[in-house]
Amino acid sequence: MIRRTKIVATLGPASCANPKVLERMIQAGVDVVRINFSHGSREQHLKHAELTRSIAQSLGRTVGVLVDLQGPKIRIGEFEQSRIRLKIGDPFILDAACALGNQERVGLDYKELPNDVESGATLLLDDGRIVLTVTKVQDNQVFCVVEQGGVLSNNKGINRKGGGLGAPALTAKDVEDIKIAAEMNADFLAVSFVRSGDDIRNAREMMLAAGGKSLIMAKIERSEAILALDDIIDASDAIMVARGDLAVEVGDAAVPALQKKMIRAARSNNKVVVTATQMMESMITSPIPTRAEVSDVANAVLDGTDAVMLSAESAAGEYPIESVAAMARVCLEAEKEYLVNVDRRQPVRPPASIEEAIARATMFTATGLKIRAIAALTQSGETALLMSRRSSKVPIVALSPHESTRRKVTLFRGVYPVEFGDGLNDPEEILELAEKELFNRGIVRNGDIMVMTIGEPIGKAGGTNTMKIIKVGESITKEEETIMENA
Ligand code: PGA
Ligand code: MN
Repeated sequence: MIRRTKIVATLGPASCANPKVLERMIQAGVDVVRINFSHGSREQHLKHAELTRSIAQSLGRTVGVLVDLQGPKIRIGEFEQSRIRLKIGDPFILDAACALGNQERVGLDYKELPNDVESGATLLLDDGRIVLTVTKVQDNQVFCVVEQGGVLSNNKGINRKGGGLGAPALTAKDVEDIKIAAEMNADFLAVSFVRSGDDIRNAREMMLAAGGKSLIMAKIERSEAILALDDIIDASDAIMVARGDLAVEVGDAAVPALQKKMIRAARSNNKVVVTATQMMESMITSPIPTRAEVSDVANAVLDGTDAVMLSAESAAGEYPIESVAAMARVCLEAEKEYLVNVDRRQPVRPPASIEEAIARATMFTATGLKIRAIAALTQSGETALLMSRRSSKVPIVALSPHESTRRKVTLFRGVYPVEFGDGLNDPEEILELAEKELFNRGIVRNGDIMVMTIGEPIGKAGGTNTMKIIKVGESITKEEETIMENA
């Protein structure tokens, strides 16, 4: 059995300091690496993308590269003593004009904060570890009282419960970083703290202007994004269920249901979805996951996510290889539970294009009959994407002459990229060679039934208009048609 759910692993010192570690992570099952632009320099980012691709190539694998923009993470400034301790009931001031913090106040790198909050608002610092209630706002100063105390150190993040912080999704740094992402031919660009579909449309425009072709992913991690979810999904190619910041804004208990809703919404709109954050958190320091983490990864698989993601586990943890291996093992087992919950609830809307009609017919055929594999001959990867929106156990092999297409499909559930078809243009010959390609790779054997899709004329993206069912090694006879019908 081949694992269908994809694994995204965040790069960092734990995975990149020693290329052997990254190599073993890729061998253990990494499909896409995430380069977190909150840390590191342009040179490091380019080097890591390069390293990933060269290792993948040496292993005969295709690995996608996801650039994750920092976005307007709203943070406090620094302290004289680098950290303070706050107790319940303490007064504390967030002061946009303060240079270096102390026990009484701290500065802000988001100077607009005093304009975005009012008395009564709840502010969560350091992923919700510290809770403050605003008592008064005066000029540059937000006066608070501590509701939940603890240690507060330099540059910790600030979220407002219920959302409402106005910072735009794309900062000046992000605008420059989009150019770096284009330069490294990133396959996916994740936009942080998205508020609206327009944030994504802006990012896409900048990416195109920089000459890049990345798929654009919206990280859903603000309250506002939940309200604008339909428009954001419409504007994006993919979304990330970014549970870290989202839990702080909407409350942790609301996240599991939102995860299910988002996965369903993405898939039914033919978009891709990644489930992220703390999936294997204890594996930062432990070689095995907790039962709860195993359940979390498995449930995301059953929800229908395209991919599960590792953050600190693979970037800074002690067990990056083991984390990947554990995820792979859990996904594979969860996938034995046949249909994901998504399809049953999906309204059957008519196909929006010929390509979608063919993709659906293929999946209907593949799940109803004893089909070993689907070979999708694809220019843009769109046919494979449309197919993979339907849950199935049949592998979807995306045969494409374009490396950029093969790298994109690394994120699509159940889709496997194979290089094929450069310079060919006779459909008969292409189908014959595609059959041989799958045979030579051991994906199908003689006598297996497989489905192939192709667009004629050859070479035109978005032109898939043909589905063909064949018996590997021979043409299908009347007798076998009956066997298929009874399968
Ligand atoms: P981050 O995004 O890791 O960049 O914060 C993911 C999340 O918030 O869950
Ligand atoms: Mn986040």
